[in-house]
Amino acid sequence: MEHDANAKTGGSDTQSQSTQAAGALGWRPDAGEPTEGSVGPRDVCKETDELVDAHPLRIAEAQNQRTVKSCRFCWMCRHLCTVGNQTWLESTTPRGRALNLYSVLKGAGKFDSEVADVIYKCSLCGLCKEFCVGAYDMPTLVRAAREDLVHSGLAPSGAMLMRESIREGGTPWDSQLLRKLGAGVVNSRGASPGLADRSQSPVLLFAGCAARSLRPSIVDAMVKILDVAHVRFTMLENEVCCGMPLYDEGFREEAREQAVGIGASIASTECKVLVSLCPTCVWAFRDVYPDLGVNLGGELEILHSSEFIFRLLTDGGLNAGPRADGVPHASDKFVVTYHDPCSMGRILHKYETPREVIGSLPGVELREMRWARDHAHCCGGASVHTLYPEVGEPIATTRAGEALETGAGVLVSTCPSCEHHLSEAAGDGLEVLDVAELVASILEL
Ligand code: SF4
Ligand code: SF4
Repeated sequence: MEHDANAKTGGSDTQSQSTQAAGALGWRPDAGEPTEGSVGPRDVCKETDELVDAHPLRIAEAQNQRTVKSCRFCWMCRHLCTVGNQTWLESTTPRGRALNLYSVLKGAGKFDSEVADVIYKCSLCGLCKEFCVGAYDMPTLVRAAREDLVHSGLAPSGAMLMRESIREGGTPWDSQLLRKLGAGVVNSRGASPGLADRSQSPVLLFAGCAARSLRPSIVDAMVKILDVAHVRFTMLENEVCCGMPLYDEGFREEAREQAVGIGASIASTECKVLVSLCPTCVWAFRDVYPDLGVNLGGELEILHSSEFIFRLLTDGGLNAGPRADGVPHASDKFVVTYHDPCSMGRILHKYETPREVIGSLPGVELREMRWARDHAHCCGGASVHTLYPEVGEPIATTRAGEALETGAGVLVSTCPSCEHHLSEAAGDGLEVLDVAELVASILEL
């Protein structure tokens, strides 16, 4: 894949690199009609069955082939790819990824470390899909390609380490990092000591590994909110990762095993409402687990913490009005902006509830970023941050800069992973909080 890995997103070399790449597949734009055995942009559909037979790969499945064949010669979303805009490499845009995979499907190229680099250097943000008039699903194709790479023994070493960290410690973040962050606050496998004692409660609070491992202050804030609202809740004694990092990195079978274990733990609580601090966990429990063959039961309501907080604010369990003692809240003219995490927005389509929670807080003014809701820019994504910090960190810095442009002093998120990356990038002048932390702070809990 050397031809494309070095192609720039802009500049005069793009055309020749693309022509070379297409030429490697037996077709050139200036060569007239494709000759026998060559591959051109007009023969998209006729080869589908033939390719499935020849390549028993996940990327050869019909839906994924459609994405490969549509994206390989399309330029329409390359200007907004989260990673492509950072690397300025054509190979790490949707088109570049598709062209690499088409080459593999046709046998003109093969899976190798360069293709692995192109495929793992995607934040799965879904911004390309949101803008695509055909709704071609690049994140699903990328996950499929990662599965194929795992089976080919070509997963990056960082992904393998993450897998071991989840297996051994129940979190993608290794124990050394946990020690550095102060594992005494929240232990690496479960909830804060004592919290798990509240058994047989209708509400299960699922913290998620990013909050447990990286931002335990979010767990503490949510516990305060539930206590003040007199909500009886429980937490899993030995909570472990929901398995989504495994699913995203191509370890589908391990993700399924993780889902089976977590599913059994959740069922044992007999809870009626599951509240998660992480939108990716919500997506896992709601949509991905059934796809992996693990059903949590039709009776279980699965909510993001912001939705549960909104419910408490509207049913009177949580009071955001004047304080009982008449003393005004200290939050006069508190300007915040809100970052739509990719999984909360483009996957779960939960845009308004976090804004309604923020808007209901006394003295808080919400200012929108230019790129918001379904067009929100990504923070760089957890695995890109972990495997390619030289790419992920500047992406987070750019997003923090967009927040600062609004004049806000606080950037609010609903994803502990985003909060972690954005707070590392923010520097002075911008505080990054989860919506639960904001509520607990403004209401002085
Ligand atoms: S996702 Fe849509 S817009 Fe982007 S390259 Fe593929 S077909 Fe084109
Ligand atoms: S999911 Fe995001 S990072 Fe991946 S190709 Fe699409 S826009 Fe780029």
